[in-house]
Amino acid sequence: MVEEESYHWADLTAEKIIKERGKKTKYVCAAGITPSGTVHIGNFREIITVDLVCRALKDKKKKVRFIYSWDDYDRLRKVPVNMPKPDVLQKFIGKPIVDTPDTFGCHKSYADHLEKEAECPLPIVGIFPEFFYQSKRYRSCEYAEMIKYAMNRRDIIREVLDKYRKEPLPKDWYPLNVFCEKCGTDNTNVLEYDGEYTISYECECGFSDKIDFRKKGIVKPPWRVEWPMRQHYEKVDFEPAGKEHYAQPGGSRITANEIFEAIYPKEKHPIDLKYDFITVKGEGGKMSSSLGNVITLKECLEVYTSEVIRYLFAGTRPNVEFAISFDLDVIKIYEDYDKTERVYFDEETEESKKEYLKEHRIYELSQVEKVPEKMPLQVPFRHLTNLVQVYEGDIKKVVEEYKTFIKTYLDKKKLETRALCAWNWIQKYAPEDMKFKVHEKVSEAVKKELNADQKKAIKILAEKLKKNKYDEGTLFNEFYNICQELKLDNKMFFKGVYLTLIGKERGPKLAGFILTIGVKKVISLLEEV
Ligand SMILES: [Zn+2]
Repeated sequence: MVEEESYHWADLTAEKIIKERGKKTKYVCAAGITPSGTVHIGNFREIITVDLVCRALKDKKKKVRFIYSWDDYDRLRKVPVNMPKPDVLQKFIGKPIVDTPDTFGCHKSYADHLEKEAECPLPIVGIFPEFFYQSKRYRSCEYAEMIKYAMNRRDIIREVLDKYRKEPLPKDWYPLNVFCEKCGTDNTNVLEYDGEYTISYECECGFSDKIDFRKKGIVKPPWRVEWPMRQHYEKVDFEPAGKEHYAQPGGSRITANEIFEAIYPKEKHPIDLKYDFITVKGEGGKMSSSLGNVITLKECLEVYTSEVIRYLFAGTRPNVEFAISFDLDVIKIYEDYDKTERVYFDEETEESKKEYLKEHRIYELSQVEKVPEKMPLQVPFRHLTNLVQVYEGDIKKVVEEYKTFIKTYLDKKKLETRALCAWNWIQKYAPEDMKFKVHEKVSEAVKKELNADQKKAIKILAEKLKKNKYDEGTLFNEFYNICQELKLDNKMFFKGVYLTLIGKERGPKLAGFILTIGVKKVISLLEEV
């Protein structure tokens, strides 16, 4: 923990929370979403933003609760295009998401499927919120008192909402939606309210009824009223919100904040923080659950280790839009992470004290578990992309290669994960010219492509490899000796050897590559020429 002046946005936010919310035994940080479609990496930004602020509070020795609300009692509005059996789902429009079937066929509902899909990978990145399922809260009538409270302040609420509306809300407007007991939809209208707990409603399906909402959990305030109501109920101190909730005029967070202070005049609305979108590099545009053009945390974890994922978010201020990359940038991001790690362990110096402190803090916040005592083994991602291909995805063999360098269990674990990410990246995203497969046999086509000089050089190389023992440096020098001896252009030499080994004109740095493949195997291939 850096005790000096804070430079990191999570620390600054934590300081603001403590200063503005005053001394508390526990600070409540909240996030949540409607599970209406795939929960994607853009939605994850909210989760990790809260997690990072919680960590910053904990580092200031404060107690924290991280609550996450699944708003699964919201109506299904639209069927996202990436869902199976859209025609089945279509029939549930207007009904609570929790009552919509899981058309993937594996969970008890559509909501449950999407919730579990999003919850499962969170522990991998070290995030453990307390989850709430709003359907349970509403159905058990837990909010009845709060609903009564809001219903009796409907004029105040209407006044706030009307400020941002062209057409004012009707005088008999009630801040309450009802799910019809006959057809299940909320295509309903509240007709009367007795000032206590009884309402009467009618539905488009023709059904009408009078109910006591302490006994029947079929009512729910609209979003802009529900949000402040729940924040009050949970005593939320901090809750970020996506950029779209701040759209002017009358973005939902702006009105929710106003409604909060209008109906709870003795309190302040929770501290908020606007976070921006995440895009996918090369795809362009905002990810959208309903369009289904989404990347999930799980998919990111195929290519990035947990620490690097945390690093991406910890290292970027929340109000800055950024693109997740799956192209060559992946290599650069791993290099950046490794550099930050070296700075942290004073293996590399930063220019300014400020930069040093910032990198220091970003590294701490990137760790899933506590910060390691010594610098972990660093194996460059770029190198791993070659190694995994030499071993055709056999991660055990990759790890074996480093057995003399692996000092701790953590080193081994980290190397395994990183190697697996490298293998996934090669298979799914790497550009063609980075992929290769070491030959089992040299093809006739390759043999024909090599000229006499190249063949001669390859023979000499095979002889030398048999006779001498090389390290990367001495082998590299030997390439140039061979070229000089034969007056062969270096480029022609490398091309010849790459063609023989992998059937491509270029490849990974040759000396290291030969040693990685194994001298024995290389000799047998060279001798086929
Ligand atoms: Zn109905």
